[in-house]
Amino acid sequence: MKKYETTEPAQTQALAEKIAALAKPGLVITLNGDLGAGKTTFTKGFAQALGVTDRVKSPTFNILNTYETGRIPLYHFDAYRLEESGAADQGFEDYLGTDGVSLIEWPQFMADLLPNDRLVMTFERGGRGENDRVITVKGLGRAEAIEEGLS
Ligand code: ADP
Ligand code: MG
Repeated sequence: MKKYETTEPAQTQALAEKIAALAKPGLVITLNGDLGAGKTTFTKGFAQALGVTDRVKSPTFNILNTYETGRIPLYHFDAYRLEESGAADQGFEDYLGTDGVSLIEWPQFMADLLPNDRLVMTFERGGRGENDRVITVKGLGRAEAIEEGLS
């Protein structure tokens, strides 16, 4: 596991940029953490690093937003609203682990669909200041190489 401390959104996005540079089609990244921890901020940095030209919005109301304008397709999930309905039968398998990179906020609500090979990230408020965040990165299976590639 690798651990990072950021003190402003731009630093969280700089970490996203480093991970995006290592990303290959099929990568799944789970973004764990409370509301306001920085998951969507990270995703925006990731999208920018892939060369996505669209504005990245929080997909809370439609669960999945897809962006096709970058180096690799980006599939941005926010599974929060699946807590009640469940994640089955919505076609998410057509995206996860396929030709794009999937970034998943609230992954616990689509746990049954997550591949074993994935990059697990956690976001927490921490440290002293309002803008301090502690971020961890753990690679499972084939995603181990990504963790190892980070400084
Ligand atoms: P989440 O998607 O986890 O609910 P967001 O990324 O939408 O969180 O919101 C995080 C908020 O915290 C944003 O307003 C962002 O500007 C702010 N913020 C402050 N410091 C940081 C930091 N170090 N990393 C990420 N976001 C930060
Ligand atoms: Mg969010």
